[in-house]
Amino acid sequence: MIKEGISKQLDSRGDGEPLFVLSFDVEEHDRIEVAAGISCSAELRSEYARRMEANTQKILEWLAETGQRATFFVVGEIAQTHRDLVRSIAEAGHEVAAHGWKHERVDRMSPAQFRIDVQRCKDLLEEAAGTQVWGFRAPSFSVSRQTPWVADILVECGYRYDASVYPVRHDRYGIPAAPRGPFWLEGVCCRILELPALTWRAAGRNWAVGGGGHFRLWPLWMLRAGLQQASRQPVPVGVLYFHPWEFDPEQPRLPLRGLARWRTYVGIKRATQRLQSLLRAFRFVTAADVVKHIWQKVLTLPRYRLDNGSDTKAFAIPQEAMTLPAIVDQH
Ligand SMILES: [Zn+2]
Repeated sequence: MIKEGISKQLDSRGDGEPLFVLSFDVEEHDRIEVAAGISCSAELRSEYARRMEANTQKILEWLAETGQRATFFVVGEIAQTHRDLVRSIAEAGHEVAAHGWKHERVDRMSPAQFRIDVQRCKDLLEEAAGTQVWGFRAPSFSVSRQTPWVADILVECGYRYDASVYPVRHDRYGIPAAPRGPFWLEGVCCRILELPALTWRAAGRNWAVGGGGHFRLWPLWMLRAGLQQASRQPVPVGVLYFHPWEFDPEQPRLPLRGLARWRTYVGIKRATQRLQSLLRAFRFVTAADVVKHIWQKVLTLPRYRLDNGSDTKAFAIPQEAMTLPAIVDQH
């Protein structure tokens, strides 16, 4: 069993101690992918914005009560509309990271559009939070082998890590062949440290157990089994992800049908109690903490190449940029 009550002091951890990351993707409920194309009234949109803020505040309270820290991947536009919320996340000792400017899928953008999106998102979040932004998570885990330039552009814009890869087979996302623990995500010319979402390897496949609908659907022992497997890896890291709206069973439902409706709302009534049990059972750190902690081992991490021979002329980044970026402890 994974030892409970792991020391709160990251620096006091032994080399083999697992590092579990709790992360929240902060977005209004109407920004989720299956809501694209649904017309929401202005009243409903503002209701979802109000609830996004209230639900995030509620999560901040739960974290404060249990002495836990987390990484919040925030949609850039929220830094404009809810500046105080972003600031309060950072002031409570959590990490603010980027989740795209408008929450658009990466594979629907050109490299030039993606560059503008992630640079703008980083700049605004840093201004609102008053801290550096190191991490990026693509909306809907939409980084794939079709978007190798993601790694290059994130490095170019000053990001230190990416958390957009889910090593699973799924109809809308996932790179099933990617490593399940921290690795180097190699793009056209550059590479970035990747912290993939947690999976559980069983019966010859990777099961998505790290969060979202999977967290609400599957029995909790599957997530614990995934954490246990992660804790036995040479670089023992496990990343969980949630959304503030998942802890709000009373919210007005989007007019979804069939599979989309089921996936969106399955298990939503038990999500709060499940998260609370995780907060009591495990000690969590931020993704930035993990980056700092594993940095001395980064040369030993596996590599995964996204690129299949893209036209490198599209990039101004020289090949030498594939060398390791320097890490500065300013976070
Ligand atoms: Zn999202």
